[in-house]
Amino acid sequence: MSTVTIIGGSVLGLGAAIALADKGHQVEILERSADPQPSTVDDAFTAKRPTVPQGVQSHAFASLGCNLLRDRAKDVHDELLASGCTEVQLADYTPPTLGKVEPRPEDKDLRMVIARRSTFELALRKRAQARPNIRFSAGRTVRGLVTENGKVTGVRLEGGYTHPSDIVIDATGRRSAAETWLTDAGLPAPTTQSESCKITYYTRFYKLTAAAPPGPINRGFGAGGLWDHYTAVLFLGDNKTFSISFGILPDDTALKGLRNEEAFTAAVRATPLLAGWVAPGNSEPISPVHAMGSLDNSLRLPQPVQGFFGIGDSVCTTNPSYGRGVSLGLQHAYLLADMLDEHPEVGPKQAQAYVELTERLLRPWWEEAIINDRGRAAMWEATVAGQPPQRPPAGVVNFGIAVAASTKDEEVWRRVANVMMMLKTPDTLYQDPEIKARIGKALAGGPPPQLPGASRADLVDVVAKAS
Ligand SMILES: Cc1cc2nc3c(=O)[nH]c(=O)nc-3n(C[C@H](O)[C@H](O)[C@H](O)COP(=O)(O)OP(=O)(O)OC[C@H]3O[C@@H](n4cnc5c(N)ncnc54)[C@H](O)[C@@H]3O)c2cc1C
Repeated sequence: MSTVTIIGGSVLGLGAAIALADKGHQVEILERSADPQPSTVDDAFTAKRPTVPQGVQSHAFASLGCNLLRDRAKDVHDELLASGCTEVQLADYTPPTLGKVEPRPEDKDLRMVIARRSTFELALRKRAQARPNIRFSAGRTVRGLVTENGKVTGVRLEGGYTHPSDIVIDATGRRSAAETWLTDAGLPAPTTQSESCKITYYTRFYKLTAAAPPGPINRGFGAGGLWDHYTAVLFLGDNKTFSISFGILPDDTALKGLRNEEAFTAAVRATPLLAGWVAPGNSEPISPVHAMGSLDNSLRLPQPVQGFFGIGDSVCTTNPSYGRGVSLGLQHAYLLADMLDEHPEVGPKQAQAYVELTERLLRPWWEEAIINDRGRAAMWEATVAGQPPQRPPAGVVNFGIAVAASTKDEEVWRRVANVMMMLKTPDTLYQDPEIKARIGKALAGGPPPQLPGASRADLVDVVAKAS
């Protein structure tokens, strides 16, 4: 078994630590933040985490990641449920237009754990720290790599210390400095491909005070819709919390006022699907509005490097709307842990196996995110410019079209749900001739009615008046 150093102790550094420790490796996590680690759900929610700005944004956890924890780290799954998280089955939330849908045995895997990001990460950290072969060292910033004969053999820490290790894993997130570290060490750096998601998020958290959900739940994990100039989604959380996130174009100046709390509330009220959740007596805000932009679909494809592997956002980021980051990172971590069983020796075979599994896993999701974001951004840009919305050419299936068809055809619904939950790959939705034919047939009579959202004029007006 190897000694493993994981750089970065956030959600996926912790996930990777658990995956590797459970294979018998001796793991040390080096986390640059020296802030005290919260021990309760409430403290985790309010903890300041300047190095993890997305920690205060809405998160939904796709079935892929939830099932991995259920099947391979059951104690984490149990910890989540003991912390006030709940589970939902997506088959309980089929579109009403489908009528009664007979459940199938495989539907049981279409499930999600409902948790705030802070609660999810707390459960991972508690269970990581309970493992005798994981050490969590806070306040330790990595500045570079130590190498010997072309192999990475450790890390260089701030203050001039070095830390030897058989294997080094980069889990430092989307601002990873791995490219510089590798180049400085004379090793091949990843090839980076990146494109803006063209979306900025505004998120606020609430405590539910109503006895029952004050609005419809159309997505299992919450409720929401995508309209011709914005998206608004409600995410259920643990312990009677929920959050609402708006997504708009980064240069949509008319809606920038969403950062203002009054304007945010006015925009929720103007979105009929969500309005009831913020009606007096139904909820209380428990956070300010958090904005987050500069989001990219980025893929940093690694070159073979002996003893050094990246996981999580350090390798791939996709538009948060798709809710894939945590599941992809957990899957990557478990694939890496399994690969190390097959190739235990640090060397070229191990390095090459990592490169191959990384591209095989990540590329399809990254490519799908790019294509869908281009289509969605073009639609929003046209509306904001006062032009008619752009439609994809006839016969082209994109995510919006597939979702529309899923309200009319049970097989399409099941496939869309499986791809959204990452239990099937995107090609099974966009390339399967039978599914494509079903989508064409389902939409032959025209698209289904839109969910109730706010028109461009109304949303701009309420935000301007309340800002
Ligand atoms: C707005 C938004 C919403 C999202 N919603 C979802 C969602 O609904 N579902 C989902 O699955 N995913 C979602 N994601 C993606 C998800 O948040 C990320 O995939 C996930 O946070 C990545 O985790 P990570 O551990 O790779 O990196 P991070 O969480 O960014 O953590 C990196 C860690 O590395 C540490 N670090 C950095 N540099 C060093 C260093 N030199 N030395 C030591 N430590 C270092 C940092 O302090 C930090 O703790 C969302 C992302 C955004 C931006």
